[in-house]
Amino acid sequence: MIPRLKLVNVTKRYGSTVANDAISLEVMPGEILSVLGENGAGKSTLMKIIFGSVTPDEGEIYFDGRKVNISSPADARELGIAMVFQHFVLFETLTAKENILLGMPEGTDPKELEKEIIDPNAIVNDLSMGERQRVEILRALLTNPKLLILDEPTSVLSPLALQALFKTLRQLSSEGVSIIFITHKLNEIRELS
Ligand code: ADP
Repeated sequence: MIPRLKLVNVTKRYGSTVANDAISLEVMPGEILSVLGENGAGKSTLMKIIFGSVTPDEGEIYFDGRKVNISSPADARELGIAMVFQHFVLFETLTAKENILLGMPEGTDPKELEKEIIDPNAIVNDLSMGERQRVEILRALLTNPKLLILDEPTSVLSPLALQALFKTLRQLSSEGVSIIFITHKLNEIRELS
């Protein structure tokens, strides 16, 4: 089987700091890969490289067997890569639906989207942290990604919402979606990946 994503010797330096030092990894279709490491280990940098918001100094990236040059998040989305960020990137004064529409291809029918959102017209500013996280996750899922990256998504989720997220991730994995899951929590790794 061809890996969904393959990194070969990816290196990123910030001045004298080596954030990523010759990282190589493979994620197969349907695989859930957890990335664990202390603060400053370089996890976010690596994910930003895969999502095209940071450019590596060295190394190669292959997606579905093809060498790719991911130079922007738009490039990543085009390949089928979606990312849920640790820090929210929602527009607080817009509604849940408007935020999700911004991440969708042009021509997406807002009426179709409404069916998928619990409270599409809620203003994000009025939502709890857990609810905002769910809007973010939904926004990523509605793009039908081939590779979903979640950067420490669980810190603001209730235990119930966490179980719902894990169930969704297992379902996606069984459908062949590859998942990279960043966490600090060993129990989450044991349960999921
Ligand atoms: P993690 O996500 O594992 O906490 P990061 O990828 O955020 O780690 O950071 C890895 C290292 O790179 C750290 O030493 C951090 O200070 C440094 N770093 C990350 N981003 C930048 C940046 N934009 N400019 C300078 N240094 C950075």
